[in-house]
Amino acid sequence: MDVLLSEEQIQTRVRELAKQISEDFSGKPLMAVCVLKGAYAFFSDLVRALSIPAQIEFVRVASYQGTQSGAFTVLHDIPVSLEGFHVLLIDDILDSGKTMKKLLKHMGAKNPLSLSLCTLLEKPGQLEAPVTLEYCGFQIPNEFVVGYGLDCDQQHRTLPYIARYQAD
Ligand code: 5GP
Ligand code: MG
Repeated sequence: MDVLLSEEQIQTRVRELAKQISEDFSGKPLMAVCVLKGAYAFFSDLVRALSIPAQIEFVRVASYQGTQSGAFTVLHDIPVSLEGFHVLLIDDILDSGKTMKKLLKHMGAKNPLSLSLCTLLEKPGQLEAPVTLEYCGFQIPNEFVVGYGLDCDQQHRTLPYIARYQAD
C-alpha cells in the first residue's frame, strides 16, 4: 500500500484537534456523534484524547457503493434527544458533501444547542453541496483512499494509516 498519512502523522493531528475541541467546548454539554463505519477509528482516538467530559452516540448512514457515490439512507439513528447538547458530528472524510448535507439536516432537526462538523480528511474543491467544516484533520488530493476506518467494499478499515487505494 502507498501510504499517504502515517500512523504517527494521524495521531499527532488527532491530539491537536482534541486540544482545540476541548478548548472550544469547555464548560458546555458536548455530545460527540460518530458516523459509522468510516469514522470509528478517528472517533475513538479523538474522543479519548479530549480533556473535557463528553457523551457519545453513533449514527450509521449508507452513501457509497464501491467507489461510486450513491443514495443517502439512515441505517441506525441516534436513540436519544439532542436537546440541551452541543453536538459535534465526527466523520471520516468530506468529499462531495452530498451525504453530509443530508446528515446535518437530519441532526439539526433533533434541536441541538449547536451543530458542528469534524472530519479527519477533506478533498478540497470537491464540494457540490454547501457544508461548513469546523474541524479538519488533513486536506488530501482527489484520490480514493483507504485505511484508519475508510474502506473499499468493506476492506482495509483496520489499517492504522491512510493509503492510496490500489486494486490488486
Ligand atoms: P460525499 O457525499 O461527501 O461525496 O461522500 C462522503 C462519504 O463517501 C465518506 O463518508 C466516505 O464514506 C465516502 N468517501 C468519499 N471519498 C472517499 C475516499 O477517498 N475513500 C473512501 N474509502 N471513502 C470515501
Ligand atoms: Mg462515510
